[in-house]
Amino acid sequence: MASITVRNLRKEYDQGTVVAVEGLDLNIQDGEFITVVGPSGCGKTTTLRMLAGLEPATEGTIHIGDEDVTDLHAKNRDVAMVFQNYALYPHKTVFENMEFGLRMSTDLSPEERRDRVREAAEMMGIENLLGDKPDQLSGGQKQRVALGRCIVREPGVFLFDEPLSNLDAKLRTTMRTEIQRLQEELGVTSIYVTHDQEEAMTMGDRIVILNDGELQQVGQPKEVYENPINEFVGGFIGSPSMNFIDVEATAVGDGIRLSEVNGQFQYTLSGEYGGDLNTSLSGQRFTLGIRPENVKPTRTAGDQTVTTTVEVVEPIGSDNYLHLDIGEEFIARVEADYEPETGDQIEITFKEEHVHLFSPETGLDVL
Ligand code: ATP
Repeated sequence: MASITVRNLRKEYDQGTVVAVEGLDLNIQDGEFITVVGPSGCGKTTTLRMLAGLEPATEGTIHIGDEDVTDLHAKNRDVAMVFQNYALYPHKTVFENMEFGLRMSTDLSPEERRDRVREAAEMMGIENLLGDKPDQLSGGQKQRVALGRCIVREPGVFLFDEPLSNLDAKLRTTMRTEIQRLQEELGVTSIYVTHDQEEAMTMGDRIVILNDGELQQVGQPKEVYENPINEFVGGFIGSPSMNFIDVEATAVGDGIRLSEVNGQFQYTLSGEYGGDLNTSLSGQRFTLGIRPENVKPTRTAGDQTVTTTVEVVEPIGSDNYLHLDIGEEFIARVEADYEPETGDQIEITFKEEHVHLFSPETGLDVL
């Protein structure tokens, strides 16, 4: 097992015309399960490949435990990687696929190798497949073999590169749990790359969010969800996405009045939440961010309500999503038994402790 320390990691391609990863700093603790998430092209795979030793870093350092592995060959790094496409040898049996790495990197006897493969196969529930070739296996079985192949090597670090992308939705959910169980059982430090924010949120002890090659935020899923550091993180984490509206702030008493820039509504944050900042924010523009579950229908109009029209009611079983005519796209998540009709005018309010204000210049969350 091992901690991982990344300092100022940078990766350029094509003579520096593409910067895939820039100034990345990470401290990962021994035994942690870290998920790395971000949109396509944000540098997730490049980061993982640099950690694995499959891609040299342009700048920066990587330590695994106390050892500087920045310039070490992949096979000397004590890491095992699970790929999206399984990367099994097609002509070898499951047993041979799982044993191959051991043969190459250890001097274990054939009996010891067999015992390790059997043990890992048992852990993954694939003992009965050991004689099969990969083309006889389903996608889920192949991924179990790929995981089993990593386990037998008993590495200090597991690296997962979107390992469940090729599986159907139901199997993905099962395999997520399997991987989590396995990681807990083995306690191996793990880094798991995915473009699926829900997967990242449910699996990670902590979640690393990248955008455009740069680290945006690292934190526990709940912390990142509730306190996004900037507008990008607020919008990327959570589904349906956080609602955003352009507003102008005015100090009123010890609170802040937020006026939608096209005059659609005014909403006043009380002094309890806006008091410390009301004069410093006054006169400035912001992007107000509010998650769909923090928008609530209300009966009486007031300083903290917005009058709006229902455009679409989207039932999802447990709740209803109301699409409202505020800004470009605005969704309220309400209880399933609240069912207004399209075209109805309703009053809504925001749970004020969950109102975010992002700076339009820096994107940073100022409230
Ligand atoms: P995805 O989710 O689509 O797999 P990603 O977040 O894993 O994306 P990377 O594959 O790490 O992103 O790519 C980061 C950036 O580096 C992208 O702009 C990509 O085009 C570029 N890139 C990646 N590999 C190379 C390469 N071998 N040569 C040139 N550019 C590359």
